[in-house]
Amino acid sequence: MANGRSSTSTCPQRRDCSWEILHDYRKCVLPTVESGLILLRKEIQSDQNRDHDQSSRKHGRKKTFMKIPFAGGCACGAIRYECTAEPILMFKCHCRDCQKLTSGGFAPAVIVPAQAFRLTRGQLRYHFTPSIGRGKHKRGFCPECGSLVTGGEFEEQSKSVGILAGTLDDPSWFQPQMDIFVSDAQPWDQMDPAIPKFGQYPP
Ligand SMILES: [Zn+2]
Ligand SMILES: [Zn+2]
Repeated sequence: MANGRSSTSTCPQRRDCSWEILHDYRKCVLPTVESGLILLRKEIQSDQNRDHDQSSRKHGRKKTFMKIPFAGGCACGAIRYECTAEPILMFKCHCRDCQKLTSGGFAPAVIVPAQAFRLTRGQLRYHFTPSIGRGKHKRGFCPECGSLVTGGEFEEQSKSVGILAGTLDDPSWFQPQMDIFVSDAQPWDQMDPAIPKFGQYPP
């Protein structure tokens, strides 16, 4: 979209993210993102050689490690998906639309290449929210149970798909590398001070 705004996003109160736009910003944030991924891989390697029991007890829950391919699905099981590639980026989006759609403080997003993602069961229904990035943000949910499963796509073909981390069969490996749309974040929404924060998109 040439002007980057649709007629539905003219209201200044109605701000939304469009996660795919982060592809464009990836050049700017690449050092952070890349070093984040390198750190993640180092952590995986070192943790694989370590006894996990101690950290599991400390945090009260067990962190596991990403295995490719990985799978997930909605709450009722009508939707199942598989991804055969490593995530491009992981982040939390705190925009109001993500709050509404997740009924929580943020959407935990795992961005993967579109060609590596496929549904193995069921068909998603889509809800569109206006995006300040471009056009409309396409959100996929289960028509049976209402679980929000995907985001970050557009009306036209997108190069990437965002998976909501809570739908992963093993969500414990989700490791956000940044917080976006923190201008919309709620006061009760506690964030990790160690990762970069952006009012909307990264500059
Ligand atoms: Zn379902
Ligand atoms: Zn959002």
